[in-house]
Amino acid sequence: MIKKTDEQISIPMVVDVPFEFAAGQYLSRALTELRDNGKFFGVKCPKCGRVQLPPRIVCAECHVKNEEWVELGLEGKLKAFTIMYLPLTDPTTGKPHNPPFVYGSVQLDGATSVLDHLVSMEPDLDKIWVGMRLRIILRPPQERIGDLSDILYFEPLPGQKKPA
Ligand SMILES: [Zn+2]
Repeated sequence: MIKKTDEQISIPMVVDVPFEFAAGQYLSRALTELRDNGKFFGVKCPKCGRVQLPPRIVCAECHVKNEEWVELGLEGKLKAFTIMYLPLTDPTTGKPHNPPFVYGSVQLDGATSVLDHLVSMEPDLDKIWVGMRLRIILRPPQERIGDLSDILYFEPLPGQKKPA
């Protein structure tokens, strides 16, 4: 018979689980455009009209097939943000980001959904606001590999002032 114990035993370990998955037909097409042409494409739902990025075969709201491809802008609007005060390991690079830094949800022009990514700017609440305009900064064309790490960061468009 096993005795009950209050002793808490911890077992330290490092788990390294490299993996890859097939991007699928739609995401592969979008990532190829990103890698080869520096362009972003979403798909438009024929029923509700929302434009999804990353593109999905089926609208998650209407459950109908998306077949219309829409080229999106390389600029967009900050929809939400946080200032990170803890280190974060970038899942696409494995490299840490040193805090504090800004992480934002950006709606590219023409898209309904958002991309979450680093925003290269001073983490100062007096200089950042929901609705500010940002542009996307990509790796140089010869360095792109066709995944989201081709996006280096977003940065604010110059000449903006925080609304009073
Ligand atoms: Zn829909």
